[in-house]
Order: sequence, then C-alpha cells, then structure tokens
Amino acid sequence: MNKKLELIEELESSVRSYVRSFPTVFTKARGYKMWDEDGKEYIDFFSGAGALNYGHNEPAMKKKLVDYILEDGVAHSLDMATDAKVAFMEKFRDVIMKPRDMDYKIMFPGPTGTNTVESALKIARKMTGRTDIVSFTNGFHGMTIGALSVTGNSMKRKGAGIPLNNTVTMPYDTFVEDEVDTLDYFERFLDDNGSGVAIPAAVIFETVQGEGGINAASIEWMQRLERICRDWGIVLIVDDVQAGVGRTGTFFSFEPAGIKPDVVCLSKSIGGYGLPLAITLIKPELDQWKPGEHNGTFRGNNMAFVTATEALTYWEDPNFEKSIQEKSETVKNFLEDMVAKYPEMKGFRKGRGLMQGISSDIEGFSEKVAEHAFERQMIMETAGGHDQVFKLFPPINIDEEGLQAGLEVLELSIQDALE
Ligand code: PMP
Repeated sequence: MNKKLELIEELESSVRSYVRSFPTVFTKARGYKMWDEDGKEYIDFFSGAGALNYGHNEPAMKKKLVDYILEDGVAHSLDMATDAKVAFMEKFRDVIMKPRDMDYKIMFPGPTGTNTVESALKIARKMTGRTDIVSFTNGFHGMTIGALSVTGNSMKRKGAGIPLNNTVTMPYDTFVEDEVDTLDYFERFLDDNGSGVAIPAAVIFETVQGEGGINAASIEWMQRLERICRDWGIVLIVDDVQAGVGRTGTFFSFEPAGIKPDVVCLSKSIGGYGLPLAITLIKPELDQWKPGEHNGTFRGNNMAFVTATEALTYWEDPNFEKSIQEKSETVKNFLEDMVAKYPEMKGFRKGRGLMQGISSDIEGFSEKVAEHAFERQMIMETAGGHDQVFKLFPPINIDEEGLQAGLEVLELSIQDALE
C-alpha cells in the first residue's frame, strides 16, 4: 500500500470512509477535476457531498480569498461585526432574499450542517414549548445527538449507543403500499387528541433526500405539509443543507413549491469554496433567542464570508438558474436512456435538478458502478439505506464538455458493473 495511505490506516480512527472509497492521495483540484499524487486526473461528480457546487478553486472566489488574506483581513472573530460579514449579509439580502420576497433573520449557528439543524430544532422547541419533532424515513440531518434523533437511518443512529427520544419518524412522501398517504396519516394523528399523542414542535424535512437515496418530495406534498403546519402551529423546517444553493435548479430547493418554511437550514455550498459556513434562516417572529442561548467559537468564518459573498455573484446572472436547469435535463434524459438501454440493471431514475441518480434493485450494483467509475478516474458515490442508488453530483457551473465527459464514464462504468 502507498505509504501515505498506510499512515492514515495507522493513525486515523476507523470511522473514516472516503479514504476507503477513493484509495488515493489527492494533491490538486480545479473546477470538476481532481489530481492525485501520481498525476492521474479524475472527474469529480461528487462535489464534496454537495459542499462544492461551484467546483474546486473557483477562480473569482480564489482571487477574493487570496486578496483578503494578503490584506490581513480578520480571519477569526466569533460573531463580531466585520466587513466580510456585513458584505455577505447585505448581498444575501439583496440577491437572494429580496427577489424571492423572503423576510428572514440570518443566524450563524456554527460551521456545519449539523449546527444549523441543531439550532433549528432548539428554536422550534423554545418557541412552541413543545418537545416532539416529526421527521421522515431516510432523512438525514446530521450526526450529533439532536440532529441524529431526526435522522431516519438506524445504522447511523446505532453510533449514538442510546435510544434517541422525542422524535416521530414517518414515511416520506406518499406511502403507496397500503394506500396510506403520509400526510393523511399525519393529519389523523394530529386530530386524534384523545390519544394523548403530543402536537409536535416542528416538522423537519429535505425536499430531496440526499443521503437517504435522492428521494424527491412532490410539489403538492410540500404544499400540503406547509398547510398542515400552519393550521396546527407547527414550525416547518426545511433542511436545505444538501439540496439547497442551486443543487436542484433554484437557489432554495423549495422554491418550485412556493412554500415559505419557518426555518431554513443551509450549509455545505453556502460558503462557496468548500470553507465551513452554515446559516439558519428564521422568520423574524420566531427569532427570540437571548444572547448566549446558542453560541460557539466558529460562528463567523470570515474567509468563508468572503468566498460566500463572491459565490452569490452567480445568482445575479438572470440566466444562471436556467443553465442549471438545462444541465439537469441533459442528466435526466441521459439517465432515462441508461435505464431503457440496460434493463438488466433493474434501475429507475430518481431526483431533481443536478441531484439525480439511478436506484437499482440488484444488491451491490450501485456500489459496483461507483467502484468501476473510480477505476476509470471518476469520483461519485452511492446513497440510500442500502447504498442502492448511485448518485450524480456534478458542480452546478460545470461546462457541457465536463458534463458529457462524466456521463460517458458513467455509461462505461454501468457496462463494467453488468459484466
Ligand atoms: N443535513 C443534510 C441534508 C445533509 O446532507 C448533511 C450532510 N450530509 C447534514 C445535514 C449535516 O451536515 P454536516 O455534515 O456539515 O454536519
């Protein structure tokens, strides 16, 4: 084995996983490409699990970041006021919130997706005085105890070693098997106040479940869920950590449904350059924190503010969303062709926007596709409770050439896996 990988094997805890999936040492990355220490070039259709929607080392962000450092810009400042922070908030208000008629307070809950989810769960409990949170099967919200308690994946919950209480996990979207619709069930359960079932503080969901297998909620389902939450005074939280920031074709993934969640969780690509940053958007009437009730050392990553601000420039271009949607159509058509052309893989296409994949009924098939893709120098991963889905996550600003190159490798990898 390579000496550097040996060192990782010796020193890093056994929890590591991507070193195992992609066993090489990476040295360089640009756009949709990565290079390893042997100079091998890889196509990256993984995008840092959604943290690199604009690709690696995006040139405009890189320049802003380097200039900021060379000018001795403040690197760390907890949540103090800095120019970098003000510039980000101003641009986020003007470019993202105002044109979408969104009125939210911006909270910096800590650097990760898990931090924003934790803050959302806390504010919902604090504001309603209730404890239960409803979440959905196959949802993923993070790995700390609170976020894990709403994560519908028993393998991941095992790591907590203790039961995780005060959550209700429900089937996602329409549960067709017994003709039970999740939301019919939810409404019946809320109506049945004689049963002693508590009204929950919040419902948290992903519009397209990322880790759980690229399962997209229908537009009608999201609208109905919002109505139920309004009727019952339940806080509606959209976890847009993975599906947000353009991944599904619009800045916020819930835009096509026209809903206005009470709380929105963003992280991963909000920093733009792969630097840790998270924000929680909270409707002003719910933002009743007392100073100190939710804090943390890394709430103001100024370097991430600099790149995040530059990333928002993409959203000033009126054609940007359209370009993502056009690429989404290319991927969708390609995957549908694959399903038709290779019925042996027993697969069907899933997802929305540039968050798509194929789910195969053959055990281990998707993992095989990802392994062959790596042999062919493409990085992609699997998703779903049984890793039954191979997942395509190209950068949203990828050019046509890069997109086609990745899709070609994918088809060859499907052929390899079928051999
Ligand atoms: N929510 C969703 C939807 C996610 O996909 C993830 C990460 N995969 C998280 C929360 C947690 O984010 P982080 O790993 O940054 O804590």
